[in-house]
Amino acid sequence: MSVRFVKSSVTACGLAPSEEGRALRLVELCGRTAYKSEDKITGDSAKKFVLMLKSHGHLSVLEHSNIVLRVEKDPATPQSAQSASISLDVMLEALRERLGFHRLYPLDSGNGFLLAGNFRAWVETLDHLKERAEMHDFLLQGLGRFFPAIFPEASGREPREASFRISLVSEDEQLELLKTSPSLDLPVFVFRFVCDRGITHEVVRHRVFSFTQESTRYVNYGNKGMVLILPEELNGAYDDATGELAPQDPLASKWLERAELLFEWYGEDLARGLRPEIARDILPNLLKSELFASGRWSGWKHFIRLRDSAQAHPRIRLLAKEVRTYFEGLGLRC
Ligand SMILES: Cc1cc2nc3c(=O)[nH]c(=O)nc-3n(C[C@H](O)[C@H](O)[C@H](O)COP(=O)(O)OP(=O)(O)OC[C@H]3O[C@@H](n4cnc5c(N)ncnc54)[C@H](O)[C@@H]3O)c2cc1C
Repeated sequence: MSVRFVKSSVTACGLAPSEEGRALRLVELCGRTAYKSEDKITGDSAKKFVLMLKSHGHLSVLEHSNIVLRVEKDPATPQSAQSASISLDVMLEALRERLGFHRLYPLDSGNGFLLAGNFRAWVETLDHLKERAEMHDFLLQGLGRFFPAIFPEASGREPREASFRISLVSEDEQLELLKTSPSLDLPVFVFRFVCDRGITHEVVRHRVFSFTQESTRYVNYGNKGMVLILPEELNGAYDDATGELAPQDPLASKWLERAELLFEWYGEDLARGLRPEIARDILPNLLKSELFASGRWSGWKHFIRLRDSAQAHPRIRLLAKEVRTYFEGLGLRC
């Protein structure tokens, strides 16, 4: 049979990693979801894939990541050297226009700040700072120390801004800071949703998140068969173990008949030479789609409030409930 039904599902992928190898593998997985080319993932494919995305300017996939830096004055630096270097105020002023893409929190000591952003935000912030060589090089050296594959330009250079030091805030520390002080919205949480195209369209309205989604332009379902999300009214006729619909159920047979017809038209259009991106016009809203969504706690809290609600569509509510359960497991409640 060329048409199958599956149920919606959620995979919580945890915090965007603070270690480069794992971070690159996550970005690769998200990126390959768009083309359904996960079978090309190997032990050492991630770096090459992510650098290819970076060099092609396909930066939205690089958003499924997070680098949190702690920038603080080095108490060991003599006062005379400190006055010669860039001040905290100059640094903050230089970053002002980019703050929409970062999270910035002053340290309680008043001697520095925490600055979080995904790979894309940092790449574009460095570009923004390229006229301000001192500040640019200082941040680049810090980033390159922890993420040398993404920021290779930094390697081998001596730090020029000696009065500040940069350290990396690990995932565990980010989570601890968020739990003790919920306004420190530092970690990025990544979820993989399997749902229908109607629901992905609702999820991507949440603009504060980053998304990568299976592409109906590039995936050729003629080769793979068509997978649809199970409509609720077929729950009773669905066998969870086999993924089969009961053939004697009249409603299930009607659904299968309709779906097979649509898939047949799709196949006919491909056969007469249309590309998948055009043949997709006949594909239904129920088409199964995979979607990665990444964002901070404030965004997910808002998502849960809007979508785990009686007013929401039952299938996005199902996703939101799972997201809520994940955060409750971490001790974070809306
Ligand atoms: C029950 C329900 C019914 C809906 N019905 C419809 C409908 O009929 N038609 C329709 O088009 N949509 C509909 N939507 C979608 C809805 O309008 C929002 O697009 C979606 O819920 C995302 O919400 P948001 O904009 O608050 O979230 P996000 O985009 O994630 O934004 C989160 C927060 O960021 C801030 N923010 C983000 N972007 C901006 C910005 N550009 N300017 C200012 N502040 C910003 C705001 O503080 C916002 O609360 C519906 C949603 C729900 C839950």
